[in-house]
Amino acid sequence: VSESAAKLPSKILDLMDGFKASKALFVASKLKMFDYLKNKGPLKAVDVANEVGTSVCGTERLLDACVALGLLEKTSQGYSNTDSANIYLTSDGEYSLHGYIIHSNDHLWPLFTNLESAVREGSRQNHRAFGRKAEDLFKDYYHSQEVKQRFMAAMHSIAHLTARDLATAFDLSQFKSTCDLGGCTGALAHELIQIYPNMKVTVFDLPEVIANISYFQPSEQCTAPVTFVSGDFFKDNLPEADLYILSRVLHDWPDEKIHILLSKISAVCKPGSALLVAEIVLDEQKTHPPRAVLQSLSMTEGKQRSGSEYKQLLEKYGFTNTQFKITGTLLDAVLCFKKNLSP
Ligand code: SAM
Repeated sequence: VSESAAKLPSKILDLMDGFKASKALFVASKLKMFDYLKNKGPLKAVDVANEVGTSVCGTERLLDACVALGLLEKTSQGYSNTDSANIYLTSDGEYSLHGYIIHSNDHLWPLFTNLESAVREGSRQNHRAFGRKAEDLFKDYYHSQEVKQRFMAAMHSIAHLTARDLATAFDLSQFKSTCDLGGCTGALAHELIQIYPNMKVTVFDLPEVIANISYFQPSEQCTAPVTFVSGDFFKDNLPEADLYILSRVLHDWPDEKIHILLSKISAVCKPGSALLVAEIVLDEQKTHPPRAVLQSLSMTEGKQRSGSEYKQLLEKYGFTNTQFKITGTLLDAVLCFKKNLSP
């Protein structure tokens, strides 16, 4: 490394280019290039262009960019997927992130394009990004079948990827029945049944979501079925369970809504029942990990919290003995127990 290269602010330079790399990944995914290469690779740029229906010169530049980013390999026979592209980037990969990548491109990118206004105004920028003021986060996602399907696919891809780590973060074998509130497609629920075959697992989510779950169910049902119940967790009765789960739910809502939800859960929990919260837990300075801090910039009415903030919040609703499993990956786990009533 030359002396002048050593002085370059490489972190800053990489950040300056970060958006180009993200967009290259998003566009290659949206055009399903990783799918074509998985099924037919290695392929020359002209063959990919013919399959996808894009220009040869544009396709070649995008494929080369994907090679530079370590997503594809290039040999004299053409371009092919890396192993991780096969697993994570194809739409049918074992741990496909395709759904989340499309959500990032179609939903998060327009919101982040308006980040300056979001910071000036301190609010979500739906009106600027999509020409419509969002009444509430989920009404916004579920207003059309297409957007709903895209959002559910995004949630499913992350939930499927993190399900095993979450289900095994603590030994949950003492719980006979579990209710995953806002459990969406049931990705975590299916994993829980695999690991705890005697557990009865219910997913509770909005009717619009429950009506759309069949596409996401495992093709081979080799475990007991998951029960899906539709309802609104702010208004309706919650199913009975020994263990409630809130995975990636609390960070979306303002304090008044969290008060309603945690009061309801606390009221139905018997002493000894438990609540498992899955979120990215911030460090006490609230600047780490970056993934959570960056997610905050989408400016929902909710917020990310530190470990001590979660502990305090849960205690306020009668949950004690709070235990943390900081995974350092996509989601951390927090388990707490409903306090015994004082004699
Ligand atoms: N738990 C899933 C996961 O970790 O992938 C999904 C998380 S997603 C951010 C939030 C979920 O809460 C969505 O499935 C949404 O439909 C559900 N939800 C939002 N408002 C709800 C309500 N009022 N009642 C029930 N479920 C709700």
